[in-house]
Amino acid sequence: MNNYEILRIGHRPERDKRITTHVALTARAFGASKIFLSNPDSRVINSVEDVVNKFGGNFKIIPTENPKKVVKSSSSLIVHLTMFGLPLDDILDDIKSSEQDILFIVGAEKVPPWVFESADYNVAVGNQPHSEVAALAVALNSISPISYNTKFDGKISVVPSATHRVMHEED
Ligand code: SAM
Repeated sequence: MNNYEILRIGHRPERDKRITTHVALTARAFGASKIFLSNPDSRVINSVEDVVNKFGGNFKIIPTENPKKVVKSSSSLIVHLTMFGLPLDDILDDIKSSEQDILFIVGAEKVPPWVFESADYNVAVGNQPHSEVAALAVALNSISPISYNTKFDGKISVVPSATHRVMHEED
């Protein structure tokens, strides 16, 4: 099965803490193995590591000050999620037929031109502006055969319930 990684560029520590945390948690929950985070932010790293410690998995969060180098040195298919790209539904079959791992790039504010130029695919989840969390969730769910049904082996797990909040905690 393909391995999925995320590169989150343009993180602004003063305003993006919560949304970058959600990008990382969505990546993990939908089966990605790793997120590269441009501009180190210990609050994001601590929040995500706390979830991994409790709920399991090997998801890694890797700070980088050189996102271009991450892309240039990657052997993965580079899929940049952008409202300006080609419709996901039109190129989904091409992406899914690739045997390469996939590095998804998501932005925060305006994305620099090198990102568009480095991408194998500039992909839009609709051509309206919305959110990197939504775009990543839809893209991973469309491309990954397991997606949000990824299994985790954490100390804590949710026991699905129609009526209550139920958690199982290992002794
Ligand atoms: N105008 C900005 C731009 O240059 O793309 C939008 C920034 S948006 C707040 C942050 C990120 O959300 C984008 O960099 C992109 O990764 C993602 N995004 C937003 N809308 C999207 C869409 N319709 N399709 C795919 N990705 C989207």
